[in-house]
Amino acid sequence: MRPALRYFLLLLGPVAFLHGAPFPPAAAPAPAPEIAAGHSTFGPHPHIESIAGDLPIVLTAPHGGSLRPAALATRTEGVTTADLNSLDLARAVADEFFARTGHHVALVASHLHRSKLDPNRELKEAAQGDATAERAWHEFHASVRAALAAAVTRHDFAFLVDLHGHSHPVARLELGYALDAKQLNRPDAALDASELITLSTLGDLHARLAPAVSPAALLRGPRSLGDLLTTRGLRATPSPQEPQPGPEPFFSGGYIVRTYAAAADTPKVDGLQIETHRVGLRDTAENRARFAQITAESLTIFLHERYGYDFPVKK
Ligand SMILES: [Zn+2]
Repeated sequence: MRPALRYFLLLLGPVAFLHGAPFPPAAAPAPAPEIAAGHSTFGPHPHIESIAGDLPIVLTAPHGGSLRPAALATRTEGVTTADLNSLDLARAVADEFFARTGHHVALVASHLHRSKLDPNRELKEAAQGDATAERAWHEFHASVRAALAAAVTRHDFAFLVDLHGHSHPVARLELGYALDAKQLNRPDAALDASELITLSTLGDLHARLAPAVSPAALLRGPRSLGDLLTTRGLRATPSPQEPQPGPEPFFSGGYIVRTYAAAADTPKVDGLQIETHRVGLRDTAENRARFAQITAESLTIFLHERYGYDFPVKK
C-alpha cells in the first residue's frame, strides 16, 4: 500500500466511526480480544462450545450433546449413549455460581451426541477416524487447556469438574479422583501408606497440604467433597458416610480428568469427575438446580478450606 493511501485510510477510520458508517475499517483485523467472562463462543468447529470464566473452576460436559449431523460417521466401538441432561446440569452449576458470585466459571461442552464424538476418550476411540470429529476433539481439548491455563494465570490454581451421568443401580454421586474401586476399597491406613494420592486428581493439592492432611482424609474424611455433598443431602462416595464404593459399579474418572488433573505435567490443576444418577437429580430443572446449589456451596467451602480461596460474593 502506498504511504499516502495508508495515511488516508488511517484518517478515514475515526471519521467513519464518528459518522456511524456501516462499513468496517479497511485496516487489517486487530488481534482477537480476550473473550469476556460469561461469553459463549463456538468454533471454528460449530459443535464445541466454550464459555470463558474468571473463577478458578472449569466445568466440562463431554457427554451431554444431542446433535447427530449426517456428515459425521457414527461411532461403532465403545459407549455411544449420551449422559441425558448432563449439559443442562453443567449450565445449572454455572448459573448458580454466577448467582452467588456475580462471576463466571468456565464451561467447555460438546453439542455432538456421543455416537458422533466422545471427548472423554483418547482421539482414536473418540473420533474413530472421522476427520471432522477429530477436529472437534482437538477443539474441545484446546478449549479445556486454554480455560485451565487462564484460571492458573489468574488464581495460581485451577479446579476441573467433569460432569457426567451414570445409570448404575445405586443412586449416588460417584466422585472420580482417578482411583478405582479396588484402590478405594482399601482401608485408610493402606491408602495413606501407598503413593496412590500422587496419581490421583488431587495430587497437587495433597502436595500443598501434606503432611497436615493425609490422603484418606483429603479424599473421604470429614470436610472432603464427599462429606460436604452428603451432609447437604446428596449421597456420594467416597465420603465419610460411604468411604468405599464396595462391590457396586463405580466410575473412577476418565480421559479428561486423568489428562488434566491427574497427570504429572499439569501442575496446579486438580479436580474430579462427578458421575450423577438421573432420577431425583438430573431429571427435572428443579432437581438440577438443587444439585447445582449444593455443589456450588460444597465447592465454595472446599476451595476455602483447602486452597484458602474465597469466592467473590455478589453484592
Ligand atoms: Zn459420561
